[in-house]
Amino acid sequence: MEIDLRDGNVLKWLIVTMKEVTKKWIQAGKVLGEDADAKVNCPDCEKGILTVTDVVIGFAGKTDRILCCPCCSKENVITMGQA
Ligand SMILES: [Zn+2]
Repeated sequence: MEIDLRDGNVLKWLIVTMKEVTKKWIQAGKVLGEDADAKVNCPDCEKGILTVTDVVIGFAGKTDRILCCPCCSKENVITMGQA
């Protein structure tokens, strides 16, 4: 299935059907993307404080920031541009 994000209705549908926990991960990614020292609770178990590991992708001049929960071991990665 192809999703065209220029279509406002599709975008609206995506936001409505997006799981609450996914929205929280996006929010967590936003906060930790700006401040790696921020204390953000795990969106999945809401107990653990997410840990942050930066992995530099050499060739692209980009950084992957891995968000990991020490309680339930959930992981999410946000890719960041050049600092
Ligand atoms: Zn967790």
